[in-house]
Amino acid sequence: PRAMSVVIVGGGHAGGQAAASLRQDGYAGPVLLLAEEPHLPYQRPPLSKQYLAGEWGLDRVRLRPAAFYQDRDIDVRPGARAAGIDAAARTVLCEDGATVRYQRLLLATGARARTLDVPGAELPGVHSLRTVADAAAIKAELEPGGRLAVVGGGYIGLEVAAVAASMGLSVTVLEMEARLLKRVATPAMSAFYERTHRQRGVAVRTGAEVVAFAGAGGRLTAVECANGERVAADVAVVGVGVAPNVELAAAAGLACDDGIVVDEHARTSDPNIYAAGDCTNHPNPILGRRLRLESVPNAMEQSRVAAANMAGARRTYAAVPWFWSDQYDLKLQMAGFPEAQDEAVVRGDPAERRFATFYLRRGRLAAAEAVNCPREFMAARQLLGKRVDGRKLADSTADMQALVASASA
Ligand code: FAD
Repeated sequence: PRAMSVVIVGGGHAGGQAAASLRQDGYAGPVLLLAEEPHLPYQRPPLSKQYLAGEWGLDRVRLRPAAFYQDRDIDVRPGARAAGIDAAARTVLCEDGATVRYQRLLLATGARARTLDVPGAELPGVHSLRTVADAAAIKAELEPGGRLAVVGGGYIGLEVAAVAASMGLSVTVLEMEARLLKRVATPAMSAFYERTHRQRGVAVRTGAEVVAFAGAGGRLTAVECANGERVAADVAVVGVGVAPNVELAAAAGLACDDGIVVDEHARTSDPNIYAAGDCTNHPNPILGRRLRLESVPNAMEQSRVAAANMAGARRTYAAVPWFWSDQYDLKLQMAGFPEAQDEAVVRGDPAERRFATFYLRRGRLAAAEAVNCPREFMAARQLLGKRVDGRKLADSTADMQALVASASA
């Protein structure tokens, strides 16, 4: 009998990891990876950090070298976009007209940057940041002394602001909400990051709704806000969230609802088709609700589960979500989702730029945020869901590993 064949659509973190996991798990059949971008699978986090700052080249951004795929007989095709799926015939139609058969298909199509539907959004100098191509274009325009407007005070916007401010640009962050990081961090953390950016000379405007990009001579000159404020700018980076790439799945008749709908085994509404990463809407058995996440840990772990299950296992994806962000000399790490009624326990001192906040819910650790506290964060991840003594967590002299060892379920 012909070996079962797996086709993966998308060459981001999820697609690249799934291909590697299939081989690590011992799956020996054909693996074909169709990647729309002209690159081997790569990581996006450095695009707003080390790559943008010029510290890392493209070689370090890549997930694995070309030899990795060759050695394992993984057929990676950069520049190959999947244009359609025939779920009944189990075929994928490629943009170049070729048709490939699959027995199991993994959709790892990720997400794309949302754009602002305002006048001037197409002007040269106005950028999104999702791909290597985007990052290279922004990098080429960041010059010391230049003026950068960052539209959107989420992680990507703030990371770009940090890199640019450190390079000597004059930077303005325009955030529509009343605080930075509103969607993803607690008010205390938002305030901490706003202070940090201001101390580094970044102008932060909250409640600032961008209504237009103005240009002269065919190039951006200013960003205009609803309140009439005009921020002069040579470059603008728009970081206002992402939209999951569901069109391929939807056209094939798969259930989609703010992402490709999958079950806890990463399987879509078609039993032969799986999905993983930013493109999915998936159940989280620990949190007891469905989520769509935009994070590397999610892409990695969900694609590992999908790969195992495509090869015949029955693994469940159940993990407490966690995230990180690097800005200036600050490493932020977060796990779980704090709620307003949680008891917040702080260890360390924000003024010293080294602290962790633990969130207790009915005596159990539900979430944690840590700034420059990787050890506390590691321990917190092990303590999630467990009963913990808040006084010990707050005591910087109490050993975190001892707390982990003594924690009760
Ligand atoms: P993607 O990385 O979006 O990859 C999907 C790929 O599929 C894309 O290359 C796309 O072109 C391709 N594709 C789509 N449709 C087709 C098709 N029809 N045919 C072929 N190919 C197709 N997360 C963190 O956890 N920490 C961070 O610090 C962090 N920083 C980030 C910084 C930036 C600048 C960005 C953009 C993201 C950051 N993220 C971070 C988020 C993280 O990068 C994503 O969660 C992760 O990339 C998701 O991986 P994915 O494989 O699901 O999707």
